[in-house]
Amino acid sequence: MSRKKGTYTGSLELICGPMFSGKTEELIRRLRRAQIAKQKVAIFKHAIDNRYNIECVTSHNGVKLNAHAIDNSIFIAEQTEQNNYKVVGIDEVQFFSNDIITTICDLIDNGTRVIAAGFDLDFRGVPFGPMPTLLAIADKVTKLQAICTSCGDEAMYTQRFTNNKPAKYNEPLILIGAEESYTARCRDCHMIDKPRNYTQHLQHLS
Ligand code: ADP
Ligand code: MG
Ligand code: ZN
Repeated sequence: MSRKKGTYTGSLELICGPMFSGKTEELIRRLRRAQIAKQKVAIFKHAIDNRYNIECVTSHNGVKLNAHAIDNSIFIAEQTEQNNYKVVGIDEVQFFSNDIITTICDLIDNGTRVIAAGFDLDFRGVPFGPMPTLLAIADKVTKLQAICTSCGDEAMYTQRFTNNKPAKYNEPLILIGAEESYTARCRDCHMIDKPRNYTQHLQHLS
């Protein structure tokens, strides 16, 4: 779609990194600034992430912002159009199906500033769902690191433990009902039982 120069204000800012890297904190910081500037702001998060409060986006250090918890990206498009939101935040964007890519592109074309946060890599260290495409489309990418809880270096991986043991490669991406926990790990300290397959999700292209 081509537009007259100067009228086009839509954009995508993508914040990515492992768990505990401060993605939600950074998302909240940018949205608060937009609110101070009296822009119409909305925040959506995937309903699967109900660790803290279904009605809020909450960072691991307890900062909160009211949010719509949803599991379908159509709701983001509908609400944004009906309410004429200018800035839209989306947390846990990696959990949405690939439809989120078209939804975000439509929002950008309609002049919305979209700020999305999510894991770039899953617990195995493999690119997560729609994230590689969103990273390519984004106007601006912020890749954050956490602190490795084993050695103190910068951490880019999310280590999953299932029943107190490092998770196995073939475990489902989203675990329901298992006793699981997560921590941040660097390249050297991340533990997984198989070599990572980085091209599995690209096979339809070859
Ligand atoms: P994310 O959304 O990326 O999971 P949050 O914004 O929710 O991250 O939380 C970031 C906060 O988590 C940090 O400011 C810090 O207080 C806390 N934290 C807990 N464990 C770690 C860690 N291993 N490395 C860095 N920060 C951590
Ligand atoms: Mg978060
Ligand atoms: Zn380490």
